[in-house]
Amino acid sequence: MLLSARHTDVVVVGAGLAGLRTAHHLVAAGVSVIVVEASQEVGGRMATDTVDGYRLDRGGQLLDASFAGAEQPSGLEKLRLLPLAAGPVVRSSDSAGDGGGRAGRRIGDAIDRARLNAVLGRITAVPEHRLLARPETTAARAPLARGLSPRTADGYLRPLLTALLHDPDLTTSSRCADLALRRYARGRLCMPSGGAATVPELLASGLPAGTIRLGVRATAVATDSVTTAEHGRISCRAVVVATDARAAARLLPGLRVPEFLPVTVVHHAAGSPPPYGPALVLEAARRGPVGRTLAAGEVDPSRVPPGGGTLVTTTLLGPRGDTGDAELDRTVRDRLAALYGVSTRDWQLLSVHHDPFALPSMSAPHDMHRPVRLLAGLYVCGDHRDTSSAQGALDSGRRAAEQVLRDLGVTPPLPALPRPVPTAA
Ligand SMILES: Cc1cc2nc3c(=O)[nH]c(=O)nc-3n(C[C@H](O)[C@H](O)[C@H](O)COP(=O)(O)OP(=O)(O)OC[C@H]3O[C@@H](n4cnc5c(N)ncnc54)[C@H](O)[C@@H]3O)c2cc1C
Repeated sequence: MLLSARHTDVVVVGAGLAGLRTAHHLVAAGVSVIVVEASQEVGGRMATDTVDGYRLDRGGQLLDASFAGAEQPSGLEKLRLLPLAAGPVVRSSDSAGDGGGRAGRRIGDAIDRARLNAVLGRITAVPEHRLLARPETTAARAPLARGLSPRTADGYLRPLLTALLHDPDLTTSSRCADLALRRYARGRLCMPSGGAATVPELLASGLPAGTIRLGVRATAVATDSVTTAEHGRISCRAVVVATDARAAARLLPGLRVPEFLPVTVVHHAAGSPPPYGPALVLEAARRGPVGRTLAAGEVDPSRVPPGGGTLVTTTLLGPRGDTGDAELDRTVRDRLAALYGVSTRDWQLLSVHHDPFALPSMSAPHDMHRPVRLLAGLYVCGDHRDTSSAQGALDSGRRAAEQVLRDLGVTPPLPALPRPVPTAA
């Protein structure tokens, strides 16, 4: 197989999770790959900034305990997933207003939680193909809450789904909601140790040196070449467009562009940990700005510098409008004071990151397995071809790579046999 600056077997456009997964799979099958990435870093939306020693995720991503686990080798064997506390805490922030810690109410008693656990337990027992065969409507209308009292359904299940899907209106497909709840119920939510960027960095480190070209933007694609602004034309036998949906549609006119769910992530440094330790805290109020908040530093202490107290990461849902950082900080701080029941006056704002195109909307009807092959030689992947999640991006990348290998007539090597597990004497 040839590999030079101007020719390779496959060019992958975009080094987010989908592109890196594609490259990983192709390289493992012995195919030469060049990944061109427009920005100066790998990872796309899975990005982490370091500010005053704090590791701050731009997306505040939470992953399932089973993340990337189905595929071996995944390139992510060294990934450490740190679990949150089991079960979220749902609170109303009705009494918010002065950032001084007038506590809101905790929603849901032990009976509510037991009922919810029974519903979640039932959903884990339903095979995935049966969930996907259920009639599709919106998450708001779906009979997900069958068996729950209106109080539990509205006060507990709705905030949980809103937080999992980043969708305050719950227009997401009920099938996607079912799947999200099933994954949630099967294991704890987790954070990648060291920040979201650890995931793409691990994938990138498993690729041969020189595979990824940073700061190289694709301006046109064809079945046998990619034109770039910086390096001219790279010829190849196949092209995989692994960008976000909007960039993909610019390169591949006619490709469907979905609606998007806007998300803002706010990080605060707090002198001491707020209550509830490593639990996800949700706001019960409908259309409250806080989708979820978490003392991320209590889950992953490596995100906090020595003597830095703890890190609180809060996700706000919906459009931001023209609110400035200082005003947004005041509003969020007041809400957090009520949600946690502590004063937030001394908390220090570390960063605000707004992404109007954070996640492709999965409104009903949603196809979770959109075709990745456009023509022989031209493929597309990314979360917009699957579910809007880190796992969806990985899965779409694997599907695209498998399709490329089939079209190139390459048989991937058999996976290594698992090593025998030593038995105790
Ligand atoms: C705020 C926020 C919160 C989220 N929360 C969660 C969560 O809790 N759980 C979860 O599972 N998922 C979450 N997600 C979603 C998850 O991060 C994404 O689904 C996933 O990272 C998408 O990966 P991707 O590879 O499809 O696309 P991207 O990460 O967008 O990667 C595309 C890459 O293509 C590059 N590119 C674009 N155009 C070009 C071009 N012309 N030439 C070369 N390169 C190009 C971009 O620079 C980028 O690096 C969240 C996302 C956001 C933004």
